[in-house]
Amino acid sequence: RTVYVNGDYLSEDEAKVSIFDRGFLMADGVYEVTSVLDGKLIDFDGHAVRLQRSLDELDMKNPISKEDLLEVHRELVRVNEINEGMIYLQITRGAPSDRDFAFPDPETVPCTVVLFTQNKPGLAANPVAQKGIKVISIEDIRWGRRDIKTVQLLYPSMGKMMAKAAGVDDAWMVKEGYVTEGTSNNAYIVKGGKIITRPKTNDILHGITRAAVLRFAEEAQMTVEERNFTIEEAQDADEAFITSASAFVMPVVEIDGAQIGDGKPGSVAPRLREIYLEESRKVAI
Ligand code: PMP
Repeated sequence: RTVYVNGDYLSEDEAKVSIFDRGFLMADGVYEVTSVLDGKLIDFDGHAVRLQRSLDELDMKNPISKEDLLEVHRELVRVNEINEGMIYLQITRGAPSDRDFAFPDPETVPCTVVLFTQNKPGLAANPVAQKGIKVISIEDIRWGRRDIKTVQLLYPSMGKMMAKAAGVDDAWMVKEGYVTEGTSNNAYIVKGGKIITRPKTNDILHGITRAAVLRFAEEAQMTVEERNFTIEEAQDADEAFITSASAFVMPVVEIDGAQIGDGKPGSVAPRLREIYLEESRKVAI
């Protein structure tokens, strides 16, 4: 695989980052994952805008223009012959000469930029979408700025492990009685034809797929209600689902052992998945 590090295209075993990099020492960095379908980027613009917002919120100086970033994404897709898959992008606060809690001077210590591709043939035709996934609920003990897409992913990783230990696919996190989101996706329920999802605050990541799916839902005359919901309400819903750049729209058929509806994907989530894939493909670049 050819990867990108700070301006260079290298083979993955030649690519290197300093041991003093603050991404490595302090999880001081942000990331984006953009999906690729038909060799094209899905919602590149949305990801570029959120990346800039994450950097701004952390006072990090963006070392690469949006145009150059698009060029790097496209070049990696081309050289790695990605038809379906993902591109991972990470920007960390660079590598000062020693470990120090205080941020280094951005003029002398530039940010580190790394991109690599993940080849996932069959991503859009994922058979899991036919039967849906099962989740458990866990307490959300993450920090208070979940709207910033940082590489600090230890608790979500632990959440995935708790899900795995419970024999299910993922975990929905709960803060003060209300569902925030999945470990790496936004969470929704459907009740009486209404799509319900937590509003955009600092408590959740503002998903790029979330924005697109809610827009498509409204265009298809579906009702969207942005409000908090509990696990009990979710268990009693007609449907549940998640969204993310890599899962697109994925039905959830069980929460904490309770079946949602009849335990099979309903009509709303599969329809949204279809619309999302079709519409995003049309405008992919
Ligand atoms: N919430 C969290 C915590 C995530 O990690 C992700 C994906 N990285 C999402 C939501 C979904 O965001 P997107 O649709 O932009 O992939």
